[in-house]
Amino acid sequence: MNNDMCFEKDPIIASIWKDGGIIDPKDAKDHSFNHSKHYGTWVFEGLRFYETGSWSKIFRLNEHIDRLMYSAAYFDYKLKYLQDDIKEACLEVVKRSGLGSGYIRPIIYPGASVWLDPTDAEIHTEVSAVPFPSYLWEKPIRVKIAKTRRVDPRTVDMGAKICWNYINSAKAKLEVKKQNFDEWLLLDTSDNIAEGPGANIFFIAKDGGRKVYTPELWAILPGITRATIIELFKDKYDIEVIEETISPERLWEFKEAFFVWTAAEVTPIASITNEGDKQFDFSSCEEGSLSNQMKKIYLDVVSGKDSDYLTYLS
Ligand code: PMP
Repeated sequence: MNNDMCFEKDPIIASIWKDGGIIDPKDAKDHSFNHSKHYGTWVFEGLRFYETGSWSKIFRLNEHIDRLMYSAAYFDYKLKYLQDDIKEACLEVVKRSGLGSGYIRPIIYPGASVWLDPTDAEIHTEVSAVPFPSYLWEKPIRVKIAKTRRVDPRTVDMGAKICWNYINSAKAKLEVKKQNFDEWLLLDTSDNIAEGPGANIFFIAKDGGRKVYTPELWAILPGITRATIIELFKDKYDIEVIEETISPERLWEFKEAFFVWTAAEVTPIASITNEGDKQFDFSSCEEGSLSNQMKKIYLDVVSGKDSDYLTYLS
């Protein structure tokens, strides 16, 4: 092999060491010159499917795959499998999984390439389904504001669900894990409340409980659950959710708070502790709270019990 061959975009692996020893390069299917592995350029989605009567249905499949396409377009990926193919793949893995309910992970990623340009590589698409019990927390969750900040939206498009956007979420997890909290909340680079590690957040004001707030779309992923919850507040309570900048100094204004995300649906928050270690307690987990009501409304929608939203199920 001459040295030039090392600079092929899909380099021939001359020798490879993995997990303790040299392996045959032919066995290294997913080797370290995988573009997405070393540059973090994969884009992905997370969807849930639910048992609805005798069928399993995926919640908001179209919106999730639209967002996946948006994420893939961010990197100019030339896709062999388009929207309809991936939707079909999602339905197929659900059917073949034998599961009534679970979680689906579609992922699009560039394969082997040493170059930074991700379009040099072959683009792969994978979809898998796993069992994923509803993990609505059995105990009230205690949240800590992490020192690690959310990615600055001037550096990466936060509308795209890209691996890179999760690096600080993972780091924030390590930070609060040592302090015995259940979850963590990230501020943006202007020190305003952004989102949880994989969840958007809502607040209900003490003032009459009719004012509901959520951070505006800036340093957050435009969550599909977030959009659903905004719609449900309007439809069920005639409440227009206020999307605006929320500084942590405003935490005293709220009586309830909850996270929303595909994976854990609506998760009421018992308390948020700020960076100065001041704890703000909420009544979100109490019987009859608006957070708990919304949790129930949402679960009825995703499981097809609320007939007004059946178009969201595929
Ligand atoms: N924010 C982040 C950072 C996320 O990763 C997610 C999804 N896990 C959400 C918000 C919620 O998005 P969705 O409601 O579309 O699941």
